[in-house]
Amino acid sequence: MTDVVATNQTILVVGGGISGMTAALEAAECGKDVILIEKNPSLGGRVSQLYKYFPKLCHPTCGMEINLRRTKANPNLRVMTMTEVSNVTGEKGNYSVTLKVSPRYVNENCTACGACSDAVESEFDDEYNYGLKKRKGAYLPFFMAYPQRYVIDPNIIGTDEAEKAKAACKYDAIDLDMQAQEVTLNVGAIIWATGWKPFDANKIQPYAYDRIPNVITSVEFERMMDKMGPTGGKILRPSDNKEAKNIAFIQCAGSRDRNYLKHCSRICCTASLKQSTYVREQYGDEGKSTIYYIDIRAIDRFEDMYTKAKKDPTVTFIKSKVANITLDKATGNPILNGVDTEGYNRYSTPYDLVVLAVGMQPSVDFKKMSVNLTVNENGFIENTSENGGMFAAGCASDALDVNRAVQSATASALRAIQVVNQIAAAEG
Ligand SMILES: Cc1cc2nc3c(=O)[nH]c(=O)nc-3n(C[C@H](O)[C@H](O)[C@H](O)COP(=O)(O)OP(=O)(O)OC[C@H]3O[C@@H](n4cnc5c(N)ncnc54)[C@H](O)[C@@H]3O)c2cc1C
Repeated sequence: MTDVVATNQTILVVGGGISGMTAALEAAECGKDVILIEKNPSLGGRVSQLYKYFPKLCHPTCGMEINLRRTKANPNLRVMTMTEVSNVTGEKGNYSVTLKVSPRYVNENCTACGACSDAVESEFDDEYNYGLKKRKGAYLPFFMAYPQRYVIDPNIIGTDEAEKAKAACKYDAIDLDMQAQEVTLNVGAIIWATGWKPFDANKIQPYAYDRIPNVITSVEFERMMDKMGPTGGKILRPSDNKEAKNIAFIQCAGSRDRNYLKHCSRICCTASLKQSTYVREQYGDEGKSTIYYIDIRAIDRFEDMYTKAKKDPTVTFIKSKVANITLDKATGNPILNGVDTEGYNRYSTPYDLVVLAVGMQPSVDFKKMSVNLTVNENGFIENTSENGGMFAAGCASDALDVNRAVQSATASALRAIQVVNQIAAAEG
């Protein structure tokens, strides 16, 4: 890795999802020097793991493509992947940031030809597909990954597998001696765009995610729909690979619950409404979606999706917090048990597949990091003046949809620009 040069007029953006990319691009396109770091081997964040995204239900590739084109075209923006912040000291206009860069074991010579992957046999859980699929020990994270460069899994370093991958590469792109590096930078402002992670469904014991294979999460359902995903775009039951046509969606799985996440993740209702359109897309009138909800929170223009779903005869709404899920051993069907709060009828209803609309929580526990940031009771960063020259963008600040995440990223870019402009003015 070449030396990374930065000054107190540089803006550091942490997290390369849609929010981090937006903040970095807005600032770089205003002529500012920007470094964007991402802990994963490629940019895109969780939006790149969606099948389609509302409101327009387009594939994430379209948004990604535009941002990647802007990224490649801008000399003010430098991207560092496999990089995390390990320490921050200093103050607004003058931060010293220590970064840890993990080795990719693949250099810039890589043409993404895939010969290294073909040469190895070892397989690991594929993070991009939430572990629903395996990937090789030499891999491209996903087809649109930026940078388009393979990665060697650290678990094969020192084994014959790594040597096989190296021998297969015609471009001298594999460097098995790469080491982790520590880089210290001086920057003027920091934008935290570290995003969210799905609430761990294993913790919701009554919903038996850890015990009933045909109970999956909403993020897994997104991957299932993707033609390049674990099931080739078909809705298949994990237990027996049979098509699932009768599907239940459980809202507030881990959200609005004092035992788990107290906050409303706001996106889950609209995400389930969207996912009911996936069922229709796949099966037409033969599919059946049932949405169990406390109340539907489809805000602003997402209300249209709710209105449309209510008119769809394949979609049923049941106002109820599901009490628990049990297993019909003979069929593998999960059975939802509870009481519906409109008619106060007890139900015990089997489905082919159950999708838990899991809540969104901050991906980073900022209280455990050595960074002086104000966080709220749900762990999201509060944008207050006490944070000095550090600003939160997108889901680092709240559970947000893409539209709101991007607005928040643009606002954070503007605030960071103001900080470095003040430095520039003071230094003449
Ligand atoms: C089931 C589901 C479906 C959804 N569908 C839609 C939809 O259809 N439409 C819509 O508008 N919204 C949807 N959303 C919400 C959408 O996913 C978010 O709005 C979006 O991901 C926010 O982007 P972000 O960049 O803020 O965070 P993220 O996408 O989480 O990106 C954060 C990035 O930061 C990186 N990172 C994290 N920690 C560090 C660190 N310490 N150092 C460096 N990098 C780090 C991560 O690897 C990641 O790349 C959905 C959410 C769910 C749960």
